[in-house]
Amino acid sequence: MMYDFRGNQRNQFHPRIYHILYMVLLLTRLPFLSTHFYGYLHSMSYRIGSGIDFHQLAAGRQLWIGGVLIPHHKGAVGHSDADVLLHAICDALLGALCLGDIGKHFPDTDNTYKGIDSKILLEKTHNLIEQKGYSIVNIDSTLCLQAPKIAPYISAMQQAIANILSVQLTDVSIKATTTEKMGFAGREEGLVAYATVLLKKD
Ligand SMILES: [Zn+2]
Repeated sequence: MMYDFRGNQRNQFHPRIYHILYMVLLLTRLPFLSTHFYGYLHSMSYRIGSGIDFHQLAAGRQLWIGGVLIPHHKGAVGHSDADVLLHAICDALLGALCLGDIGKHFPDTDNTYKGIDSKILLEKTHNLIEQKGYSIVNIDSTLCLQAPKIAPYISAMQQAIANILSVQLTDVSIKATTTEKMGFAGREEGLVAYATVLLKKD
């Protein structure tokens, strides 16, 4: 049984009943009402999620960002390939459906994930989302690092992520910024990624 904010019991209709009501409103030539009802119906089917991830940068490591290997004198430190952008997107996907975080699903104490390609982690996370009956509407993300310049690699990252998640390139926004040489990112000690995703119920 569901309750409203006053603590009163609320009826739980099967979602199909809302579609039937919408069709009835359409057929009764009340397009104004039906459009509003349809908006209400669909607003109930969306979920938003946000993710953030940090990694240290160190010599002797590869720099994987967004599924792309970027030539640089430093790489990201981590248990997996330490792909900061893919990890932030995984967390955003999990967060949207209240499924915990990446550490819960792929713990860094588990040797299965040692050195693993984070594209595999993103694929596994996407499978979880699909199993729950949701698909991705769009992703917006921001990378924050001082060096190297990310612009030349953004389209390859979009392609890699869109392939894994079965979405269009225009559904995967990747932006990049620096901290104007301030803080750990500015000193090139580490990097950060932020991601927001919108999911819709299929
Ligand atoms: Zn990470």
